[in-house]
Amino acid sequence: MAITKTEGIVLKYTNLGEADKLLTILTRNKGKIKAVAKGCRKPKSNMLASSELFAFSEFVLYKGANLYQVTQAQTREIFYNLRNDLLKLSYAVFFVEMADAVSEEELSSERLFMLLAKTLYYLAEGEIPVGIINEAYQLKVMDISGYRPSLQTCVHCGRPELQGYKFDIEMGGVVCGECENLSKNIIKISPGTLETIRILLNTEISRLNTVKMDNTIFNEVDKLVKRFVETHLDKHFKSLDFLNEIKNNNIK
Ligand SMILES: [Zn+2]
Repeated sequence: MAITKTEGIVLKYTNLGEADKLLTILTRNKGKIKAVAKGCRKPKSNMLASSELFAFSEFVLYKGANLYQVTQAQTREIFYNLRNDLLKLSYAVFFVEMADAVSEEELSSERLFMLLAKTLYYLAEGEIPVGIINEAYQLKVMDISGYRPSLQTCVHCGRPELQGYKFDIEMGGVVCGECENLSKNIIKISPGTLETIRILLNTEISRLNTVKMDNTIFNEVDKLVKRFVETHLDKHFKSLDFLNEIKNNNIK
């Protein structure tokens, strides 16, 4: 007979039967859960908006034997501006896919929930360049998941004096000249890129509009983040393929 009230964001859903959905929700208090929303696909359902992808709502959940059931949902934010912009929509789909990949069922992570909520909010708002939001979000998700890049001292020997700037993707941090032969998967980066990664990790999403970077640094950050995420999460994000496709068509 357990009833829970929690804020949550829909990470994905599967249609069930004629009018129901099985929702995967990242909740603020209970981590990721699966919940059935009965009748939510009916046009007059009061759960219609709340059961859409990345909708942010307050859910009242009843825990049955195996699954939760959504008994009530009050929509807080559907992020309308993300739904009528193909590029932003694609980023939002990727962001929820990544949150899904790193979250575990019933393991509470309020940090991840807040990060996703804020990221979707600022992506929809449109004042921060989407590319910057994207890199910062991925770095912060990795940090929350226990993969904070180590940027001060060599990841192998701990030496603080680094000559040249190289990043060991597998070890997740910078390497010194003496240890770089120990690494199989390293990339060269410029000092500016290292500093930018540090700034992206330490700046609140809401303040990312203060971050400036030129194209060279942006491309280095992008390459490093992509390889870092792929290596450690060992997952291919389908949403990224689509995102890259529309970016190649030069929709900025
Ligand atoms: Zn070293």
